[in-house]
Amino acid sequence: MSNGQVPLHEEQWIENLAIKIFSDIEALTRDKVGISRESYGKGEALGINYLINLAEEFGFYVEKDDAANIILSLDKSVKTNYFLVGSHMDSVPQGGNFDGLAGVVAGFLLLAHLKEKQIRTSLPVKVLILRGEESAWYGKNCIGSKALFGLLTSEDLNATHRSTGDKLSKAMDASGVKLDVIKRSKPLINSKKIEVFIEIHIEQGPVLVDKDWPIAIVTGIRGNYRHHKIRCKGNAGHSGTIPRYLRKDAVFAGADLITRMDDHWNTIEQHGGDLVLTSGIFHTDADNQAMSRIPGEILFSFESRSQDISTLDALENLLRSECKTIERERGVYFEFDNVIKSDPAECNQEVVNKLLDASESLGFSRVSVASGATHDAAIFSNKGVKTGMIFVRNDKGSHNPEERMEIKDFMKSVSTLNKFINDYE
Ligand SMILES: [Zn+2]
Repeated sequence: MSNGQVPLHEEQWIENLAIKIFSDIEALTRDKVGISRESYGKGEALGINYLINLAEEFGFYVEKDDAANIILSLDKSVKTNYFLVGSHMDSVPQGGNFDGLAGVVAGFLLLAHLKEKQIRTSLPVKVLILRGEESAWYGKNCIGSKALFGLLTSEDLNATHRSTGDKLSKAMDASGVKLDVIKRSKPLINSKKIEVFIEIHIEQGPVLVDKDWPIAIVTGIRGNYRHHKIRCKGNAGHSGTIPRYLRKDAVFAGADLITRMDDHWNTIEQHGGDLVLTSGIFHTDADNQAMSRIPGEILFSFESRSQDISTLDALENLLRSECKTIERERGVYFEFDNVIKSDPAECNQEVVNKLLDASESLGFSRVSVASGATHDAAIFSNKGVKTGMIFVRNDKGSHNPEERMEIKDFMKSVSTLNKFINDYE
């Protein structure tokens, strides 16, 4: 640390402030189970208003952009490039308190620290509180960050709410979004001015817990290729009368396909590739099927995720060619939907290295992981902004009220962020 001060994560008042903000916002947005902070809705607004009030108490400068995202800083006018740090305020319905909020609070604590210690960083720091990252409400993710770059389409704005059926544009309007500006698809931010964007986020997988790492630096965010509905058609028939060689059993064909894809996954992983595969929907028509009926049709989803787009492309080709083979061998055929692609995002290598340096110099492990879940940071990275992420260990996964983040682990991530920014040149 500059001028021999204790590192940020050992400053008790900062830790106390973190505990207070997390518990106040948890209390404000508590639901029957967990917390609910609806995208462009009530809980999100309650959390944001709380932080605006607190920011004013701390003497921070508060701005709201045309997508109703909030920006906090120490000085009003920033003409130079700046560090941007932040994450999202919303949550899934009845979710956990730390997904998104951790990155927002981290930015707040950083500003509080810089102000209290009167530290001048090489470039100013802005804290971004994003709205609408979770797709659970309107089926669209990263709404606030996409708006920043003029990426929202009319299809996005017309997306409907999971239970009320109201349009997203209506909720945005009610939250103070300037829809006329958003509809012009004009960026709200000059991305050239962002020196680097850093998002702190809880890990949504089990790796950090398993490895006993309090924090890790993220190397990249996996993209995904998704088939929502693939149909495998065979022939229905009597389970007792049709011999094996005459069967066209859709379930056996589907199971064969999944086994073959699992073998490919294993091979790719053994060669050091990054990949995860899931078939989260896989069923016959229960109304039609019976114990003693050979299934004539199944419907399944297929999702592949990887940091590497060439792996995703290769996997897609393997999926198609295995289906062709199984069609020949088992007398079935596969009907494909259109694949929906979301590109992987790489964290900037220089930023990753500097974050690793910062973490190591504070005495934490020099470790990195890939992000399996999508984050606002991916939007920044894919728009050419130098981007980095820090994950915080979090037990019990996320998108559920059971998620557990230890405050001591969180403080290490904030301290790493602070060190990174103070050492940045
Ligand atoms: Zn999140």
